[in-house]
Amino acid sequence: MDHEREADEAEPPPAASAATLTRAAFPATVRERERTAGFPQSARSRAFRRCHFPDATAQEWNDWRWQLRNRIRDLAGLERIFRLSADERAAVQRHRGPLPVGITPYYASLLSAGDAMQPLRRTHIPVGGEYLHLPGEADDPLGEDHDAPVPGLVHRYPDRVLFLTTGFCSTYCRYCTRSRMVGGGGEYTFSLDQWQRAIDYIAARPAIRDVLLSGGDPLTIATDKLEWLLARLRAIRHVEFLRIGTKAPLVLPQRVTRDLARMLRRYHPLWMSVHVTHPDELTEEAAESTARLADAGIPLGSQTVLLRGINDDTDTMRRMMHRLLQLRVKPYYLYQCDPITGSAHFRTPVATGLRIIAALRGHTSGYAVPHFVIDAPGGGGKVPLLPETVVGRDGADLLLRNFEGRIYRYPDPEGACASA
Ligand code: SF4
Repeated sequence: MDHEREADEAEPPPAASAATLTRAAFPATVRERERTAGFPQSARSRAFRRCHFPDATAQEWNDWRWQLRNRIRDLAGLERIFRLSADERAAVQRHRGPLPVGITPYYASLLSAGDAMQPLRRTHIPVGGEYLHLPGEADDPLGEDHDAPVPGLVHRYPDRVLFLTTGFCSTYCRYCTRSRMVGGGGEYTFSLDQWQRAIDYIAARPAIRDVLLSGGDPLTIATDKLEWLLARLRAIRHVEFLRIGTKAPLVLPQRVTRDLARMLRRYHPLWMSVHVTHPDELTEEAAESTARLADAGIPLGSQTVLLRGINDDTDTMRRMMHRLLQLRVKPYYLYQCDPITGSAHFRTPVATGLRIIAALRGHTSGYAVPHFVIDAPGGGGKVPLLPETVVGRDGADLLLRNFEGRIYRYPDPEGACASA
């Protein structure tokens, strides 16, 4: 058997419709691999595996459970692969409690071994800045715990709820909004009994029509257990719409087995928000995982946190948005970084995000422009932020600034009535 072509399950080859756009973006060798039943493994992944996990076969590498079992979780694991800076080493040694170090071998292959300033590396290896606590920061800046009627369920808006399914992620992002609860060591526990209480709460409230499954990462849950939850939620007649928020397609793309995709498609309408940080995450493997989900009929949207020195420039953001569209992922939200405790080194001025949106709007496809929002601290919900485009009135005319900065008039009927 060709060990460079993994078969994640004994299944027929992908349908002819799979990933047409995605394939066009990759060389013939990748398209060739995709015609097999297996999951692609980039040259970069192969080289990394042979160097750092020489005993692992290609099949093991492409088994998401192997990826979870072999995560890099401590100083020794990091130092086996990375040349840590003194700041990183001290930060890892100092860490206690939730949001531990956790990096899948696959994702580690995308991180620079020697450059501590590489964007992806900065998002996953702790630095001393995590231990600086500034005024205005909080462990639960969005006030989620305050809006939790039962443990693990946030009910803030009348018609929708946030269902926290697990505290586990395959990789831990250092800027995580839920750093207080992910990765163990915190006060949060998740169990089937807790899920049942949340399901009962939703079932008893006909106003709830939209359930967002998040965590932690719901796609790290075993397929049969996740199906148990989806089936129970789908059985509630007033729940019209299910959503899953996940980073797995980019940090653990092997998780998107055809078995998982087949299971998910049984619970439509099911949408998915994919957490993406940087264009370097949008690899051949990520193209396969997103293609499998899109081919299962799951509309995909992206969520990105604006992060200082990581993705806070127009070129990086434009490349990321364009690549997402190629992968059939609609750029959806760009978040101003929440004021989580220890996040100052990640946060940018709000003006940076506005500048990026202004530089995208009109200069690229409208589909490539996400909504820039602040999740209002204290539980105020998402507040959209827009560059100033309505600059005033002249009589009945509305004065508008276009993407080139030129002013145009629109004869506004409302203005005409007001001035009549
Ligand atoms: S994947 Fe999401 S929940 Fe998990 S650490 Fe990253 S931001 Fe937090």
